[in-house]
Amino acid sequence: MQLTPMLSQYLDIKKQHPDAILFYQMGDFFEMFFEDALEAAPLLEVTLTSRDRTAANPIPMCGIPIHALSTYLPRLLAHGKRVAVCQQVENPEHAKGIVKREVTRVFTPALVADPELVAPEVRNILFVAAPSDTGLAVCLVDLLASETRTGEFHSKDLFLDLLQEWQPKELLIPSALSSHEFVVEALRILPTMTVTLRDKFFESDDAVKAAAAYLKETQGLAGGTLSPPLRLVDHEALKLDAVTVSALSVVRTPWKDELSLSDVLDGTLTSMGRRRLKEWLLHPLSARKAIEQRLDAVESFLKDDAFADSIREPLKSLRDLERLASKSHLGLSLPRDLVAIREILKRIPALKTRLKTSKAARLKQLAGELDAMTSLAKLLDEALLDEPNTSIREGGIFKETYHPEIKEYRALSQDAKGFIAAMETREKERTGISSLKVKYSRVFGYTIEITKSYLDRVPKDYRRKQTIANGERFVTDELKKFEEKAMSAEHRLSSLEEALFLELRRKVAEASGKLLQNARLLSELDVLQGFAKVSKERGYRRPELVDSDSFVIEEGRHPVIETLMPQGEFVPNSIEMDDTSRTWIITGPNMAGKSTIMRQVALIGIMAQAGCFVSAAKARLPLFDAIFTRIGSSDDLTRGRSTFMVEMAEVARILGKATPKSLILIDEIGRGTSTYDGLALAWSILEYVHTEVGAKTLFATHFHELTALEKAFTGLVNRNVLVDRRQGDVVFLHRLGPGACSRSYGVDVAKLAGLPPKVLARAGDVLKLLESQSERVARVRSKALDPLEKQLLFFDEPKIPETLAPLES
Ligand code: ADP
Ligand code: MG
Repeated sequence: MQLTPMLSQYLDIKKQHPDAILFYQMGDFFEMFFEDALEAAPLLEVTLTSRDRTAANPIPMCGIPIHALSTYLPRLLAHGKRVAVCQQVENPEHAKGIVKREVTRVFTPALVADPELVAPEVRNILFVAAPSDTGLAVCLVDLLASETRTGEFHSKDLFLDLLQEWQPKELLIPSALSSHEFVVEALRILPTMTVTLRDKFFESDDAVKAAAAYLKETQGLAGGTLSPPLRLVDHEALKLDAVTVSALSVVRTPWKDELSLSDVLDGTLTSMGRRRLKEWLLHPLSARKAIEQRLDAVESFLKDDAFADSIREPLKSLRDLERLASKSHLGLSLPRDLVAIREILKRIPALKTRLKTSKAARLKQLAGELDAMTSLAKLLDEALLDEPNTSIREGGIFKETYHPEIKEYRALSQDAKGFIAAMETREKERTGISSLKVKYSRVFGYTIEITKSYLDRVPKDYRRKQTIANGERFVTDELKKFEEKAMSAEHRLSSLEEALFLELRRKVAEASGKLLQNARLLSELDVLQGFAKVSKERGYRRPELVDSDSFVIEEGRHPVIETLMPQGEFVPNSIEMDDTSRTWIITGPNMAGKSTIMRQVALIGIMAQAGCFVSAAKARLPLFDAIFTRIGSSDDLTRGRSTFMVEMAEVARILGKATPKSLILIDEIGRGTSTYDGLALAWSILEYVHTEVGAKTLFATHFHELTALEKAFTGLVNRNVLVDRRQGDVVFLHRLGPGACSRSYGVDVAKLAGLPPKVLARAGDVLKLLESQSERVARVRSKALDPLEKQLLFFDEPKIPETLAPLES
């Protein structure tokens, strides 16, 4: 095929980006050719055409207008595609031969260097994994938060947990890893994650270096992200694994779109604060001092409305400094971004003054750490107009006092208006044509317009330029000369402003680390004031954190469920645990509130360790090191394992990881197998947790047999959720009481649910039969409860007939 110069340039550039769709700028359009066009046209929903239609082999082609990039680009990224944006890098008017073009940026599913393309609450995460001795070395990159985290994983489960927590959009690995079991499993649970292979980045098996190389390739960023890497797994934090986060609805996730703890606790005023809040709830603290500092800050806001308002005021409608800082670091700031940065910086001095007066240590610290960056703020103030042009190429960015030539050129274009008016008056007089007009149009420049009826009066020095419907347009030498002067002033002005802007942008980019630091501090302040706001509105109280093992929650409420009910309808419950009662067996009918109270305890723990007040009249809490849950029927079909298998795997993990400082919630285990298996396992798990793990444990169960264990172990106690049955129907009181639930209420609940009376009566009869048969079991069982004699006679007894003989009617 005979290649035109343009096509051969295209193919050269395309060769450097074989796995990306190439957006090739031609004037006002990005065009795609060949395979790229075939692939992209249907995803973009644009028409597929062809170049050179008459040729034997027309080239498939499609395109989008440049200004619509932000509409179309996300469609390709959402399908896991990469896009290399190739722009004209010289003015076509000045080009000799073919216009020079370069790929200026590569967008990948995880690396979207444009904050406008990523919703404020979304974090676009890249995972980079390299082989390490017995597992994977992982580096996480959040480009828009300019954040990296690193860690090493030897356990597959931990790695998968991490994936579920961060939901990376893309995984960068060397091709040797693509069959690694961690990676294979990762793709099973996150099938939409894009895998990118780049062997050349991994010559040293260093995930951080590979990440940096990838940022260089796609963003042209030599230095990687702004802040030094954080730890991927924070050993100082209260550990919440992915199962727990999901079971407790700590944050809202795409696959579980229900009200979450972070929604309820969200009193933030900025989108960076909202993201920080999520992070705090997913990684609560475990160090007392840091928690107390947050609580002190919350309290100082809560107790002093005027002070709180004085802090809230400047935070209101504050733009997303975190993203502005990252954008600046990426060299992408536009004039209005710098104005936004300027406006944020202007609010800092007042904030610092106010924070300094606070007695709360953390707020005082914030006063010191926030940096008003006065010289940068001053520079931006002197430089930029309040509403500069959105583009950097067309001028209209700077104040005219910023540079002497700006004033001069602007004066020239101001003069143009005066010149035109003066010339119009003068020419009218000279020619006697009262309707004469001096006009400007983009295509024809400055002209003198004369209507038809006056054409005979046109002087000799007018040269005809264009015919219009009701007359003719002319130029004169004077007008032509003026036009050149005006045009070149405008042109010089816009190139001057562009150059000045690039210089200013570089200066701001140099300070982007400081800006990011400010962003983090402001978002922290935002979360703290938000905690105070919500705590006040919802009547939360400051928790007391104790070193002892005992813990008390008085009149605790489930923070999320209470908001879904009319005020005052949620029934508060108190919980007190110490060494004489560190394991609770909770019984009670279905729907009585067992699961609710268990989650409520865990959520209150999370709130406290995140530094928020808690939904209780009073709370004295220990510092948990981890919260583990095995709750309900959270079928983990995504991991492709059966429910029972999943349940046992989760329990195994809990038993392996929990310590005496942990809180464990086990809700209804042993349902997914036969009754005896289930009971046997629930029994032995309960014993093990109590005697070997020693964590604070809430254990809800439908196996009433287990309530007998109370007699065998000190510190293991029964509690039940009370019901009122006096009126014939069961009424759930949602109140926790001592002791075990006296009986099972399955039949009563079925009645509430509307089963036909005949079914209920029959079930009642069958139940009586079964209960009489199992009485002997109970007798034998009591013997088996000696913990030293761990033999469970219970299983020797054939108790319940496999099938029931039909009862006589
Ligand atoms: P269980 O686990 O015992 O089957 P749940 O904890 O799932 O019961 O509670 C069932 C429903 O009862 C909840 O969805 C809620 O509507 C209501 N409920 C539970 N606890 C309370 C409470 N303390 N106050 C008011 N309503 C409650
Ligand atoms: Mg339940």
